[in-house]
Amino acid sequence: RKLGIAILGLGGYASGQIAPALQLTEHCELRGLITGSPEKLPEWQRKYNIKEENSYTYDTMDEIADNDEIDVVYVITPTATHRDFTVRAANTGKHVWCEKPMAMTPEECQEMIDACNRNGVKLAIGYRMMHEPNTRKLIELTKEKAYGPLTGAHAYAGYAGSPPPADYWRGQRDMGGGALYDMGVYSVNGLAYGTQLQPVAVVKAGQRRQDRPNGVDLTTTYTLRYPDGMTAEGKTSVVEDYNELHIEAENGWYEMDPMQPYTGVKGSTSDGKVLGPPVPNQQSIQMDDDALAILNGTELIAPGTLAQKDIRVIRAIIESAETGKEVKI
Ligand code: NAD
Repeated sequence: RKLGIAILGLGGYASGQIAPALQLTEHCELRGLITGSPEKLPEWQRKYNIKEENSYTYDTMDEIADNDEIDVVYVITPTATHRDFTVRAANTGKHVWCEKPMAMTPEECQEMIDACNRNGVKLAIGYRMMHEPNTRKLIELTKEKAYGPLTGAHAYAGYAGSPPPADYWRGQRDMGGGALYDMGVYSVNGLAYGTQLQPVAVVKAGQRRQDRPNGVDLTTTYTLRYPDGMTAEGKTSVVEDYNELHIEAENGWYEMDPMQPYTGVKGSTSDGKVLGPPVPNQQSIQMDDDALAILNGTELIAPGTLAQKDIRVIRAIIESAETGKEVKI
């Protein structure tokens, strides 16, 4: 059986990546739409053959509870709206997939987790890299201690864009815009899966912010410390290009460079191995993995409880940047 997916939020990522990727899945079918801009519906309905009765607005979306054709609501809206939409979707009894970053604070994440638990539905976060086969090889190297105990790591995730404007959510701090939430979550999550360790402190952090009310960070740098004293460096930007996850161990190193593009993720090791294989479409693998976890009642690769830890680290990075002090996590 295929799961019926309803996309909530018909913006850039939904139209450019997720809807096309759904066409390539084995276990999912795009069957529903939920939008705050109903004028978008006719084109989407035509393009993806979606029934009128499976089309909702933010005002009518709670009626999806009575729609047996829909199994999952996939929340793809600005980050500050993830909590409310996820709780509402969970309360309709549908499973929820929610885009990264999970939410603004660990407390919001907890509300999302609690709502899904209360309703007996699963909550998966759209961490596409954790499903990507090259990246999964890197994770295996860490789990096997293939190059001995880890000695250090860095994760850099940025792109050289224009500073986001004040009238767009990506340029608004209170909507979850800015380098650290948007791109930095890849570096924080990358260090988590790359080291298989949780940091105990942010040693130091710095942010370069837009000089206007509600302006966002354009670049953030940070140093994490782990229980055994090892440290890792992270940096992230929406105005500078870099993209790599590098793991140092006693007997060698291994890395993803680049670590998080939609295609062309590439892994290599100090002894000349290339991690593979190339992957045609990460998002379709992600959604099939998450669908199988629902259909078979197995564990998700990236559940809300995992992503909540990254939001805790992000908040500690912000606190460290603001106070100039080390912050315990
Ligand atoms: P976008 O601006 O292109 O689209 C956002 C959509 O949400 C639009 O349809 C917009 O009308 C709607 N929206 C705007 N403000 C809203 C509000 N206040 N309440 C409800 N809806 C609102 O953004 P996007 O690039 O599609 O990003 C959406 C989400 O997807 C973000 O959380 C982002 O981090 C995530 N994303 C993930 C990836 C990935 O690779 N996993 C890539 C891009 C975006």
